[in-house]
Amino acid sequence: MGILWLNEIMKDDVALAGGKGANLGELMRNEIPVPNGFVVDSRSFIEFLEITGLKYQIIDMLRGLDVEDTQKLQGTSKMIRELIESTEMPEHIEKEIRKAYRELCKEEGEEVFVAVRSSATAEDLPEASFAGQQDTYLNVKGEDEVVEKVKKCWSSLYTPRAIYYRVQKGFRHEEVSIAVVVQKMVNSEKSGVMFTSHPVTGEKLCVIEAIFGLGEAIVSGKVSPDTYIYDRVKKRLVEVKVSEKNIMLTRNEKGETVEVKLPPEKAKQRVLTDKEIEELVKFAELIENHYNHPQDVEWAIEKGKIYIVQSRPVTTIKKEEKKEKKEKVEKEELKILLRGLGASPGIGIGKVKVIFSEKEIDKVEKGDILVTTMTTPDMVPAMKRAAAIVTDEGGLTCHAAIVSRELGVPAVVGTKEATKVLKDGMIVTVDGEKGIVYEGALEIEEKEEKKEAAIPVFADVITATEVKVNISIPEAAERAAATGADGVGLFRIEHMVLGLEKHPMKFIKDGEIDYYIQKLYEGIKKVVEAFYPKPVWIRTLDAPTDEFRAMEGGEDEPIEANPMLGFRGIRRDLVEDIHFRAELRAIKKLVDEGFTNVGIMLPMVSMVDEVRRARKIIEEEGLWGKVEFGIMVETPASALIIEDLVKEGIDFISFGTNDLTQYTLAVDRNNENVAYLYDETHPAVMKLIEHVINVCKEHGVKTSICGQAGSYPHVVEKLVRMGIDSVSANPDAVRRIKEVVARVEKKIMLEKLREL
Ligand code: PEP
Ligand code: MG
Repeated sequence: MGILWLNEIMKDDVALAGGKGANLGELMRNEIPVPNGFVVDSRSFIEFLEITGLKYQIIDMLRGLDVEDTQKLQGTSKMIRELIESTEMPEHIEKEIRKAYRELCKEEGEEVFVAVRSSATAEDLPEASFAGQQDTYLNVKGEDEVVEKVKKCWSSLYTPRAIYYRVQKGFRHEEVSIAVVVQKMVNSEKSGVMFTSHPVTGEKLCVIEAIFGLGEAIVSGKVSPDTYIYDRVKKRLVEVKVSEKNIMLTRNEKGETVEVKLPPEKAKQRVLTDKEIEELVKFAELIENHYNHPQDVEWAIEKGKIYIVQSRPVTTIKKEEKKEKKEKVEKEELKILLRGLGASPGIGIGKVKVIFSEKEIDKVEKGDILVTTMTTPDMVPAMKRAAAIVTDEGGLTCHAAIVSRELGVPAVVGTKEATKVLKDGMIVTVDGEKGIVYEGALEIEEKEEKKEAAIPVFADVITATEVKVNISIPEAAERAAATGADGVGLFRIEHMVLGLEKHPMKFIKDGEIDYYIQKLYEGIKKVVEAFYPKPVWIRTLDAPTDEFRAMEGGEDEPIEANPMLGFRGIRRDLVEDIHFRAELRAIKKLVDEGFTNVGIMLPMVSMVDEVRRARKIIEEEGLWGKVEFGIMVETPASALIIEDLVKEGIDFISFGTNDLTQYTLAVDRNNENVAYLYDETHPAVMKLIEHVINVCKEHGVKTSICGQAGSYPHVVEKLVRMGIDSVSANPDAVRRIKEVVARVEKKIMLEKLREL
């Protein structure tokens, strides 16, 4: 009794092993490679006090102590500590400690250096309350030294700070005990920390920092670590930042920590291999799943073997109702019916209704699960009623994905066979974050459901880089404005146009151009009004021919082998300039009514002539100088000739990374078969973006992003560092992106200050 090996300890053993010991034991039992060691448990300390009679001496010394009298507090602390350290340990306790240390050395094959750490505990209380108040000794070697350091840890239960804390918090000193963890020290070649999930946003992005040598160099800030970000959903490394690590700390023969200068080629070397990252992430997932909460983990690699040295919960991530619901899904272990892409977060439960065209939308009642091949604008009324949406086709920027995010309805897209697997009337649970459809319903309280449906109004976070919002359907305007966004960075009018009764050219042919203008005006006004006086950048019509074909009057749309590269965007607006003019006239009505917050943005630009001709039409319609004028940068051509484009008098550009990525990488954004290749952070895409930002800065042209990547924290961090002026995110991501931007801006300022 008195000694517990780490692999015998469980998380509930806090009273015996202290929080630290219990935590390490729990990890080890769950096959996390924690360095070997043992705990001198809290019973040993109590026994020591009782057998030696120190218990009552200490109580006497503390009785009536005025902890506010610093001198007295320090004096008493010193006396108690000396008393403990000078009193012999009962023989049987000492023997057990020596024996355990010898066993540890035997297992490791040599006399090992150990860390001797205090782990204070009070019954029924997590150790966190006492964390950091007691001593830790590193690089301890030899039986005698271990015994001595254990006693020092015991005495550290009576540091002035620890005594003061207990009095302040109303603990009786006798209620508190202390365990001591004795654990092999890893003399690491590589070490670092990792957050199992993103520490700010809680996304499943594992953030790893790594250096050569001992981990203390990261904590003390002596070395800037490499940073690796691994996307646990897409299962790939999304970011590698290699820094220059001029020195490393290592332990010499005597157990002293020494600083070693690294040769320049080693200093610039990447610390972790892909394989090591994958292994670390595997442990990150095990640990996070085990604790059901993101963790901040310290790790080390010695002789090629990974060790987990420490794990604590990350406290910055707030648990939202959404997450609690998600956990319930996992706990109940519902059967998985389908997997696809998580396109709009949240959990939806209901009865399946499979529809194949907008003619069937009446089938979908409030709270049903809308299942279809791919949604169309005509399905929007049904999408609003749905508890969740599931589609066969599509990627993260397809119609279903964009609109469901805006409506706040959970959605899973690109499942390939939802319309086959799911049958009318089946009850299912849809997890729009993980992209999974489960069989059966989850019991969720009514009030939780309600909370989830609304976007809360947030207290404003002020950022120098503006954070705006994307809108596709005017009905979502109020909800989007409630996010506190700094304006609308993209209003896609085609969703509204495709939702009208007929094709724009058919209205025009039928002599109903005024009606068409009125409809446009009404829709746009809803958005411009909801955000006034914040700017709203309205993008002129950009729908591919295949989407128009389904409309009345769409029969004449050309059949294109590849509509994404076809007759769309500004190229079409200039050929059928009559509907372009109709849009401008609707906007002019608003401007004439006094709305000063309007901007016009041209889609799919790839030539200077397109901008020149569009500008001429805007001038002819009397809008030039009355609205902001900008272009989307979503073709590699526009990025490469940006210098010539900005000379045409544009006020702003906005990156359409959905298209820019597909055209740069030759990866169809709506094709789920190649979705794994679709990467907005591909160096080629990033290079184009950086080039455009730099040129625009030289010419005083504002830069923004409105592609889906503007809702991803890891991309936004990069763009803010590049100096982008604004970021436009989906309504559900605005709050998170604001926080990310605020944090990055602070980081940049801090880095600059440190350089001074
Ligand atoms: C883009 O291409 O990134 C963009 C915002 O436009 P859309 O998704 O409407 O093509
Ligand atoms: Mg686009």
